[in-house]
Amino acid sequence: MSTQRILKVAVPAPLRRTFDYLPPAGAVLGGWQAGIRVLVPFGQQKLVGVLLGLSDHSELSAQQLKPIHSVLDTEPCVPADILALCQWAAGYYHHPIGEALATALPALLRQGEPASFPTETAWQLTTEGKGLSEGALKRAPKQAALLQALRQYGQLSRAAMRELNIGTGDAVRQLERKGLINPRQSTIQPEPIGGILQAEAPLELNNEQKTALEQLRYQGFASYLLEGATGSGKTEVYLQAITQVLEQGRSALVLVPEIGLTPQLIGRFRQRFGVPIAALHSGLNDRERLQAWLEARQGHARIVIGTRSAVFTPIPKLGIIIIDEEHDLSFKQQDGFRYSARDLAVVRAQRAGIPLMLGSATPSLETLHNAAHSRYLHLRLTQRAGGARPPDVELIDLRGKKLEDGFAPELLARIETELEKGNQALVFINRRGFAPVIICHDCGWIADCKNCSAKMTVHRHPPHLHCHHCDYQRPLLNTCPDCFSKDLDHLGLGTERSEATLQAAFPDFPVIRVDRDTTRRKQAMQSLLGQVREGQPCVLVGTQMLAKGHHFPDVTLVAMIDIDGGLFSGDFRGPERMGQLLIQVAGRAGRASKPGRVIIQSHHCEHPNIQSLIKEGYHRYARRLLHERQVAGLPPYRYLALLRAESKRPENANDFLAAARQFAQQRFPASRQLGYLGPMPALMERKKDRYCFQLHISSSDRQQLHRVVALVCAAMENHALSRRARWSVDVDPQDMA
Ligand code: ADP
Ligand code: ZN
Ligand code: ZN
Repeated sequence: MSTQRILKVAVPAPLRRTFDYLPPAGAVLGGWQAGIRVLVPFGQQKLVGVLLGLSDHSELSAQQLKPIHSVLDTEPCVPADILALCQWAAGYYHHPIGEALATALPALLRQGEPASFPTETAWQLTTEGKGLSEGALKRAPKQAALLQALRQYGQLSRAAMRELNIGTGDAVRQLERKGLINPRQSTIQPEPIGGILQAEAPLELNNEQKTALEQLRYQGFASYLLEGATGSGKTEVYLQAITQVLEQGRSALVLVPEIGLTPQLIGRFRQRFGVPIAALHSGLNDRERLQAWLEARQGHARIVIGTRSAVFTPIPKLGIIIIDEEHDLSFKQQDGFRYSARDLAVVRAQRAGIPLMLGSATPSLETLHNAAHSRYLHLRLTQRAGGARPPDVELIDLRGKKLEDGFAPELLARIETELEKGNQALVFINRRGFAPVIICHDCGWIADCKNCSAKMTVHRHPPHLHCHHCDYQRPLLNTCPDCFSKDLDHLGLGTERSEATLQAAFPDFPVIRVDRDTTRRKQAMQSLLGQVREGQPCVLVGTQMLAKGHHFPDVTLVAMIDIDGGLFSGDFRGPERMGQLLIQVAGRAGRASKPGRVIIQSHHCEHPNIQSLIKEGYHRYARRLLHERQVAGLPPYRYLALLRAESKRPENANDFLAAARQFAQQRFPASRQLGYLGPMPALMERKKDRYCFQLHISSSDRQQLHRVVALVCAAMENHALSRRARWSVDVDPQDMA
């Protein structure tokens, strides 16, 4: 075959390899670069793939090779650095490159839409406009602002004006009528010509913030852990670091947890910066997402704020990556391509030679471990910015106490006192619905889900039984299906039940419930939070939706009423998660003039984890947990990968993993360094009508672990048993369920 005629293409298919194609008949190959999209025949389908490179060699014969249908891009849709990042990630997570690339691209590009802005109208200054004196439009501030921005940016589209919050009303029409600006068709997004517009002045930093910022180096790769309680001023440090980066003509990428990407956060960035900002949040439709992505890729957006998958956003001249709430679980994708955006951000920053800042009030044990071994520079903010004190924590021992629907009487009394004083209280309970269990008092029957090894949760509004794992629903019963008794009990606590209890206890005050059920409608969350922000006395009751991203300055009492479950979790990360949650929830409360107080109810007040957490603080607590992990040979002291398999019949999943283990052990026998555990049923054995099994492979040598997993994947991908079970690999699992 002639040289370089074979196209190596990544196709979104569940196979860990690339596919070879020929160019279309008569095509000239010049200028075909890696990263362009191509439409290829794949079985009976046509799929959008990404060209990874050209080669002179194929394992297939010329007769077996098919030509592609067409080329979709003239320039790489995926820039070289993102392509390389995806290839690295596909290797590290042992996931098909085609699917990894699909994760990196907006949906419309995966479907083959053009990767360019449609032409749009942009306005620019006319000669008269350029010559106009500064003070000439004093009476028309909106027109003056638009004119000023055009001086800075050269030209602006409607979208860009909206982004900058200018050109509103009929300013555009007026200026056009006066002959000061004129429109023209443009496909190019404007680049700012001047400096960055700074609407809101930066705050005067306290000493710790100043020190943190002074330590930051903007040239070359380095990782920083910025540890500071909620309200200690981390975001202010991010904003000022970004200012530096923007002033160097570079751009910033900010990753936040799913629940943390709130309009308030975006608003804070927009108030500070005049530069265009692309926010990649779940509220965007496909068209808007593509638009935001293109703005980032074109270098128009100078700040990109997004959730997990935004780590793949192409950004020319990237100058810093910031990850807020780095410990948050949502940075790890929990199905399909199970990548960690936090860990990939480290790789991306390293390759780009730029700083990476990880911020958290409760850093993950991995990150603390890295900081302790000087891989990350540890910066700490120990005072609350603006002077608010950290909250005091108090324990209520529930043993032997008569409770009112899960509330100790003294807790209710304390809430009442705060309400009487005009303050707000927050009650945290990490379970939605009314009660997690319905049981027959006469025969002990319990409503189980028919698809999962889980119990059905009782909901009252509207009344039904609901499995939170598979979404199966059925009517609420009032007779036991086994013994026909009418004596059915609802056991345990959920947000609905607590809401009812609190409303009955405090009929004169609003009780506001925040969970997935009350915030399903668009804007519902905003309106609930708006109500709280008015500052009137009220009780907030909700799940971990309340634990992140929001600050409630008028809340003076936070109660955690049901934490005992978290003490005895089957997942080795349970204590870490419990500690993070507790500190995060506690951190929602109070401000300088109104310090917050935290009350924890428990049957296990003496438990060393609770004692350590409230007496020694998260940092010391985390150190203890790290020590326990070291003794037990768990991550981050050993590297871990899970092979998961699921099938309708348990033996299929089990046999698949048993074969995988046997295969691996032949080449890599178990040793002190390398360990195998399983196959064994997952913590939740049955889920969505499938049996879930796991095989744990761990090693003290990361390279070795990867060699074993690579071998297993290669062998099992084509194994006969792989057709009877769905299987996946999870490297550095965050969730053992
Ligand atoms: P975090 O991100 O750690 O939760 P923020 O940066 O949001 O903290 O700061 C919490 C509050 O304190 C915000 O209202 C912020 O405006 C204010 N703040 C932050 N830094 C300072 C400072 N140096 N001086 C005064 N107020 C500050
Ligand atoms: Zn019964
Ligand atoms: Zn279920």
